This record gives sequence, C-alpha cells and structure tokens, in this order.
Amino acid sequence: MGVGGMSVTVGILALQGAFVEHEAALQRLDRKIEVVLVKTPEDLEKCDALIIPGGESTTIALLARLSGLMDPLKKFVSERPVWGTCAGAILLSQTVENTKKGGQEVLGGMSIGIARNGWGSQIESFEADLTVSGLKDPENPFRGVFIRAPVVIELKPAANDPPVEVVASLSPELLPPALSAPDHSNEPKTFVALRQGLHFLTTFHPELTRDDRFHEYFVRECVLPRHSPKG
Ligand code: GLN
Repeated sequence: MGVGGMSVTVGILALQGAFVEHEAALQRLDRKIEVVLVKTPEDLEKCDALIIPGGESTTIALLARLSGLMDPLKKFVSERPVWGTCAGAILLSQTVENTKKGGQEVLGGMSIGIARNGWGSQIESFEADLTVSGLKDPENPFRGVFIRAPVVIELKPAANDPPVEVVASLSPELLPPALSAPDHSNEPKTFVALRQGLHFLTTFHPELTRDDRFHEYFVRECVLPRHSPKG
C-alpha cells in the first residue's frame, strides 16, 4: 500500500493474458505509479487498486484458484478499485452467459450480466472509434480494439447498489444483426465501458494501443479519489 498518500500502488493480475501491456501503459503515465504484477496473495496485499487484464476468463479464474488468489481477490473487490478489461470485465460481472462447460467462477463487483464471446464467430474481432466524454481530449476518438469480446446484456443494480454509469458505448449501427433487436432491449449491448462504485470495466483492450487515456482515467477517477485523503 502507498505510504502517507504519496505514492499509489496499482497491481495487475499477472496469471495469464495481456498484463505486460497494462504495465507499460501505467508506466507511461505522467503521474508516477508503483506497479506490482500480482501472482500471489502477498503481491495483492501491496496494492491500492487492481487491473484484471484480457486473456481467457476461464483460465484466469482457474489459475487464481490454484494460486490461492480467488478468495483474496473476492475480498479485494469488496474493498478497493478494480478495472477489468475484456476477460477481466467478465470476472468483474455478477453473472456470465455462454460459459465453458463447467461454468465460470467470477469475482462480482459490478451489477451486470455479460455474455462471453458475445459478438459470435462472424466478427470475433474488430476495431471501432469511441467518443468518450470522460477522457482527456474528449473530441479525439479512442480506437477500441475488441478481441472475442464479451457483450453486456443487462444492468441489474439492486436498490442499494451504486448506480451503473455508461462511460462509453458503440453506436447501435455497429451492432451485428444478431445482436440488434427491433425494440430497445439491445441497448446494454452497445455499452462497452461501465463504471459502478469503485469499479470500472471495458469490454475492449485499451492496453493494446499507445493511447493511455483510459489508464489515466482509471487512476484519476477510481484510484486517486479513494487513495489520498481529501481536505
Ligand atoms: N473471450 C475471452 C474470455 O472469455 C475474452 C477475450 C479477451 O480477453 N480478449 O475470457
């Protein structure tokens, strides 16, 4: 944990997937961040916040179980900010559809339902420009890289949960026919970055671009307000 509110330590779950790319992005930020690659419960204890990278959600959950991290991660999610990208977004969700046989263990943390590989085999991967008002330089679109991305299918905050805020969405005409419906029930499927309470998720991969504005956003909006005592 950071000392005296001066330095802030962001962990990156480093069991499988694109953790090195997240590390590089955090190190490029102007604000100096201590980065810990988290492979054990002891690593996790040092962290003020955590990023769960993209990769393969079933594998990450299995490796977390095997390394004794599953229960510490569930506790961490109930206390500190976590950002999940792609597979990490699946792990932050409350319920998951289209799981592998045997199901999918999740950490929860965000009151949403998500579907793995929700774009189907026709368009497993694609890129799309996102206009995101919360980012620095908001008129400059962010190139979203989607790789076998999950699709948000419902927001389901309980009465006393913090509200779910839509940080970025795809324009509906980018939805493939299989995902668009004549009524408005397809709306959550356009949501690709969501924030709730301490947590943040993106169904795409900001760490695979050289544009670090989502990393800056997470640190500014989710990590620092919880870290340095105000006033
Ligand atoms: N389809 C992967 C999963 O279910 C996620 C893909 C990704 O993280 N790029 O975990």
